[in-house]
Amino acid sequence: MYRLILLGPPGAGKGTLADNLTDRFNVPHISTGSILRRNIKEGTPLGKKAKEYMDKGALVSDEIAMRIVENRLKEDDCKNGFLLDGFPRTVNQAEQLDRYLDANGISVDKVIDLVADEELLMERMIGRRVCKSCGRIYHITAMPPKTEGVCDFCGGEIYHRSDDTEETVKKRFFVYRSQTAPLIDYYRNEGVLLTVDASFTPEYTLKAVIAGLGLQNDNN
Ligand code: AMP
Repeated sequence: MYRLILLGPPGAGKGTLADNLTDRFNVPHISTGSILRRNIKEGTPLGKKAKEYMDKGALVSDEIAMRIVENRLKEDDCKNGFLLDGFPRTVNQAEQLDRYLDANGISVDKVIDLVADEELLMERMIGRRVCKSCGRIYHITAMPPKTEGVCDFCGGEIYHRSDDTEETVKKRFFVYRSQTAPLIDYYRNEGVLLTVDASFTPEYTLKAVIAGLGLQNDNN
């Protein structure tokens, strides 16, 4: 049973780590950013509302984010655990999540805080590409797909996120520092924080996380 939260600045590798962990633990990867992007693609009212904020590098409201997560956590596949990626992003969201989990008699096992410096993260994000269909993450030089523009896993189209530009990434770093970074102390105080250096390869991060969770590095 794994109930995990992935924390860390934009580009730290939360999505890539989540892909690797879900393969191993068989728990759903819940990315609020991916859910919002799907809504934008489908032109839903939620997507239309969220796009304005996302294109500016700002956060959508706590209310929207919490509603998305609550609805998703109610689904059957979350009964054996879940991996939250990109949520919570504010102390208010974390408090709301705690209240929701408490009310359901469950709690988070670990919050994995991925740490890397902003210069490296910027380079990663400018080169980052994402599958439009399944959300798998690539990088134009460090982790390209086998066939250019095509997802290795589902054959979907690979694209460059409109918020992965230098200007927007700078704003997202600012938002992270001011609104999300306080969660590090929040979860440290809860005694569930696991800090991992995310400056190296995805494999290195995965190994450090597996070791930090007290598991064996046996299948990578
Ligand atoms: P991500 O894919 O996690 O980088 O998220 C992309 C964008 O979606 C963010 O820059 C925010 O605009 C929005 N977003 C995702 N998750 C949240 C959240 N928990 N709270 C507020 N906004 C969010």
